Amino acid sequence: MAKEVDLIKEKLNLVDFLRSYVTLLPAGKNFKGLCPFHSEKTPSFIVSPDRGMWHCFGCGLGGDVIKFAMLYEHLEFPEALRFLGEKAGIPIQTLSPAQQREFGILYDLQDAARTFYKEALYKNPDALGYLKSRGLAEETMDEFDVGYAAGGETLVLHLLHQGFDVADIVRAGLALKNVRGLYRDKFSGRVMFPIQNQVSKTVAFTGRLLPDDPSVKNATVELPKYLNSPETPIFNKSRVLYGLGKTKQAIAETRAVLIVEGQMDFLMAWQTGVKNVVAVSGTGLTPQHLERLRGLADTVLVSFDNDEAGLRALERSLANFHSFDFHVKVIGLGEFKDPADAVLADPTFFKQAVEWAKPAMKHIMSVYFAPKVWKEGDIPLQKRILRHLLGEVRTLRSAVEQNIWIKEMAKLSGISENALNEEFAEIGGEGGTAAAGAEASVLPDLDRTSAVAKRLVALALTNPEFLVKLREYKTLLPEIYALILDDPKAEGAAFLELQGSYEFGELDPDKRQKEFGDLIRRLQSINFKKELAGVKKELRSPETRGSDTETNRLLNRFSEITKKMNDLNQ
Ligand SMILES: [Zn+2]
Repeated sequence: MAKEVDLIKEKLNLVDFLRSYVTLLPAGKNFKGLCPFHSEKTPSFIVSPDRGMWHCFGCGLGGDVIKFAMLYEHLEFPEALRFLGEKAGIPIQTLSPAQQREFGILYDLQDAARTFYKEALYKNPDALGYLKSRGLAEETMDEFDVGYAAGGETLVLHLLHQGFDVADIVRAGLALKNVRGLYRDKFSGRVMFPIQNQVSKTVAFTGRLLPDDPSVKNATVELPKYLNSPETPIFNKSRVLYGLGKTKQAIAETRAVLIVEGQMDFLMAWQTGVKNVVAVSGTGLTPQHLERLRGLADTVLVSFDNDEAGLRALERSLANFHSFDFHVKVIGLGEFKDPADAVLADPTFFKQAVEWAKPAMKHIMSVYFAPKVWKEGDIPLQKRILRHLLGEVRTLRSAVEQNIWIKEMAKLSGISENALNEEFAEIGGEGGTAAAGAEASVLPDLDRTSAVAKRLVALALTNPEFLVKLREYKTLLPEIYALILDDPKAEGAAFLELQGSYEFGELDPDKRQKEFGDLIRRLQSINFKKELAGVKKELRSPETRGSDTETNRLLNRFSEITKKMNDLNQ
């Protein structure tokens, strides 16, 4: 497989590929962006096109393009190869039949089902009529491959006819074996929404019950309104977001994402021109969802019912969003129950509502400080409200944003900012629980020399002149670092180059020059101290004490080093 690996790396532009996941900005000859694997405010994710490598200095993950695909798409090595091979236009033939069965067939099956359901929709006037009555345009249905599942055994028979194995069809979550041992379609009498992964491959479906479908009317048990594919090796519910493959560009451009509950809300929002949208389906929002979105957006937009239950739901979700340092805005939908409803009734209103979304904290405060809630003179009540709101402010990760809302509270409540700040300090809490960054490195930190050497070599790798200069001090460096100076392919070189670009990439030349000088001096100073310690030890040894010449030699050496150290500090 080594040949395929090399071919993929050669043909696939690493930066272009990663850009479909992470917004990357140039940083010297490298690129940097917000890490898609952990939540962060400042970019720690560095990509070196020359090296064909990426590394995150926040969470320590790193590797090549294949490692990225494996980590991000949750693929095994052979599957990642196949996935990237397709992107690069390289046929990967080295998959064993067992590996083909494990992953490839699952993709093929979902794809065949998607085509089958889509064709069925246009042959079924009832299903099509239902979707149109909900306001969906045919272009939207076509774009998102909306389909129809007649059910029974229509899909199973079709897939068997195409040569698929029934066991695989079951494994893909498209069919079930019933009590009489017959294989039946999983989805029946439903409008079908294919769920695609980040790279627009169908991995699962959500089926929405079609109220008047014959198979539904004859059902003897109550059927769930929405039915999702089970999790499979290619479908992880808590990671996939509906529509993201098509909307991530718009999300990255606006740095804002509208999160809605289901496919209909998503499609209607999209249709009306709100393109920075995703839907969760089957699960609530998971930390993995939020992590994925955090790499693309700073602001989330949500809509909540305009009643007490809606407010509670918003408050519950807020801490979650805040823990990922999202700025949260709320869309007021007035009398409409959800975005799909609002778009159907009045597309202009919906677009306007999105534009006029207001900060969630502001929305919440406007509720609590309304005269009928914030009762003048009811001090215990006011204390409760203030503590409650301060608790919410506490969940914000940004101290700046915390301060903004405390100011706002002071304004609305008439309580002084100082008093609120004191109360805020008292309630404590677990604000600012940024994940402790674990540094993973191929290079061990042995001692201070290594620590300085590591920084120094990393810095030198950002500038050829530094590299030349540093070679003069090569003997002071631990061997592992000295080797890198002469051989850019030495072990650890790629990592240090990324580190250099992460730590020093944005410093202006003057500061970089100064840092370089400081580090060289520190390296020398550590070295002198070591030498000095050695000399002292020798001076104390019995052999030296017995020899005046040796004692004199060492004393001279001692003053030489001390002088050099003084010069260094001038
Ligand atoms: Zn990271």
